[in-house]
Amino acid sequence: MIENNRKTNRQRVTVLGLGKMGRALAGAFLTKGFHVTVWNRNPDKTRVLMEGGADVASNPEIAIRASTTTIICVSDYQASMQIFHSESVASAIKGRVLVQLSSGTAKDARSFDTWVTSKGGELLTGGIAAWPNQIGTSEAFITIAGRMNVFNQQKDLLQALAGTVSHVGEDPGASAVLTNAAMAYLAGNWIGFCHGALLCESEGMRVDEFGKLMEGFSTMLSIEARHMGEVIQKDRFNEPKTTVETVANDLALLLRHSQEASLNTELPTLLVSIFGKAVDAGYHKEGHAAIIKVLRTAL
Ligand code: NAP
Repeated sequence: MIENNRKTNRQRVTVLGLGKMGRALAGAFLTKGFHVTVWNRNPDKTRVLMEGGADVASNPEIAIRASTTTIICVSDYQASMQIFHSESVASAIKGRVLVQLSSGTAKDARSFDTWVTSKGGELLTGGIAAWPNQIGTSEAFITIAGRMNVFNQQKDLLQALAGTVSHVGEDPGASAVLTNAAMAYLAGNWIGFCHGALLCESEGMRVDEFGKLMEGFSTMLSIEARHMGEVIQKDRFNEPKTTVETVANDLALLLRHSQEASLNTELPTLLVSIFGKAVDAGYHKEGHAAIIKVLRTAL
């Protein structure tokens, strides 16, 4: 059963999953004039979207059959498979395109692709680099993996969600690789920021001023990310801007400063350990990105 059904010629899209991100995706489609059908396990979360003009399906099969394209945005791939486990829902995929925007691993994405294909559907897998409030704006960035012809068919629809929608390869796992790589980068920054905040707090200094200071580093950080990528890709560790040895010394100071201030030392201890291993391995005169040679060794 579909509530709020209206006759319309607008392009149709279905969104399964109305958590913080799914609600933002469905909301952006509504704002951009799509005919949106939604379904969520907990039906309470559908009310706001229904008031905004979405059709609310009473089960996922009806939701999928309402459009040729269905966006999935639930916690992870395991949650997605719980939605698709019944034969009636699985059979609704035939001849339709699913765009999986739930987070997962490359293995999750590849096995979901095999399963969707076996049911006669097409799959694109994606990663969202945005907060929910940025969805539908030029600030949002979405990576998409999957067959190029399917991506080309869906590109206009996906551009309703993000200023940049980038196809990253036909391997269905490619987007998960990049999303998890970006998560590693971001989480490292978050932990680093919080350790910096501890140092400020310990001296009664304002953490919001520290945040503003780091905002001023943003251009330098983006140049640095591109530089590290090129150094590692092209094996250019012998053209250092700074060396492993110099950074190792700076990190020893960070650890001692944290100890002197009686702060948590988990992060500086880890950093000293990684750079120390790189020094011990003989990379001390190479550029700081050479720590990847230590990290390449699986524990
Ligand atoms: P959320 O607010 O916690 O919502 C989770 C959604 O998953 C809800 O709709 C929930 O349904 C549904 N769900 C969980 N288990 C389910 C199951 N077994 N069967 C059916 N539905 C199930 O999470 P979110 O922030 O929207 O994130 C959704 C995805 O977007 C995640 O993969 C996340 O990594 C990704 N993402 C989020 C952000 C962000 O800033 N929020 C940014 C980038 C990517 P109920 O409402 O019924 O519980």
